[in-house]
Amino acid sequence: MAHRSGRHFLQIPGPTNVPDRVLRAMDRPTIDHRGPEFQTLGREVLEGVKPVFGTAGSVIIYPASGTGAWEAAIVNTLSPGDRVLMFETGHFATLWRNLAQRFGIECVFVPGDWRHGVPPDAVEQHLREDRDHTIKAVMVVHNETSTGVTSRVPLVRRAIDAAGHPALLLVDTISSLGSIDYRHDEWGVDVTVAGSQKGLMLPPGLSFNAISDKALAASKTNRLPRSYWDWEDMLKPNATGFFPYTPATNLLYGLKEAVAMLMEEGLENVFARHDRHAEATRRAVRGWGLEVLCAEPAEYSGSLTAVMMPDGHDADALRRVILERFDMSLGAGLGRLAGKVFRIGHLGDFNDLALLGTLTGVEMGLSAAGVPHRKGGVEAAMAYLEAGDAKQMAAD
Ligand SMILES: *Cc1c(COP(=O)(O)O)cnc(C)c1O
Repeated sequence: MAHRSGRHFLQIPGPTNVPDRVLRAMDRPTIDHRGPEFQTLGREVLEGVKPVFGTAGSVIIYPASGTGAWEAAIVNTLSPGDRVLMFETGHFATLWRNLAQRFGIECVFVPGDWRHGVPPDAVEQHLREDRDHTIKAVMVVHNETSTGVTSRVPLVRRAIDAAGHPALLLVDTISSLGSIDYRHDEWGVDVTVAGSQKGLMLPPGLSFNAISDKALAASKTNRLPRSYWDWEDMLKPNATGFFPYTPATNLLYGLKEAVAMLMEEGLENVFARHDRHAEATRRAVRGWGLEVLCAEPAEYSGSLTAVMMPDGHDADALRRVILERFDMSLGAGLGRLAGKVFRIGHLGDFNDLALLGTLTGVEMGLSAAGVPHRKGGVEAAMAYLEAGDAKQMAAD
């Protein structure tokens, strides 16, 4: 393809735009991963990443995509024939279910409409009915990247406790960590699964398991075989800053920088920034006369917004026009939403003008693709951002 001037707008909900600071941090020679220089880096990232998860416990870093960390969470805690409770919140919950099934896990998969998160009362009801405690884990996708719906993990925790059930709580935060409020320890999560290429602003290639003491105890007695993913094999060398096999050294340089950026901004400010951009995006969508897929305001995602197409119009045709005309990538509808929605990613490294550029690209694209809509979405987003700034300035 011929050169296109200006920056590509990568507004899919991950991988996200990698900030220059992270790119520069990774632009270094690879070092001996058994040497003293690596040890310092290893210690720094293994310790430094913990506050991002909201944990004082261990976080394992795999050289793998998020799917690997999904698998690691299962093979380290469950045994063949174990039952788990899952909810069909969307495409990613479905894929995680499929992965668990391949390991002989029996998944109670509660059907959903792909417009709502995990219903806490249903969690409680299923667990109360499981008197013999045959359900060994509740598996939740915190932010359903296919729908833009965020499940309320603290309410799921409360439901498990209300049922007095000992199931583990495994949570996928691949598209929420570093963009949406998340607290592994405080929310009583047993395994948190994460990936590098979304809220953490890194290229793809790292993934994570944050582990509770209860999950670690389960890993001592569970019976699924594993080698590459084995927590114990990792934790031993991690204690001195090393890895059992070659780590993704240059991505770890990037991780150190990305964590520093998140801490400089302050996690609370990071979450507030994403909430604000998400609200501005929803106002733009309504301004266009289109509908946000997420049906429950308390579950709106700070990471992305899925937008429903008017009947008879193909989201992929719109995305194609926007890519060709404006050099912007938007997320496709996945699974049963293929062609029916497009997804605007506003996670990771992002600011007001990047958002307005993104929304302008969508508004111009709707016109160019002949999709019926009203003008004024971008203006509605601008008005919201300006009003927030005025309030902020008055408060200062
Ligand atoms: C992206 C994503 C995955 C898959 O991660 P990969 O890095 O592509 O393996 C899983 N779950 C959620 C919620 C995601 O957003």
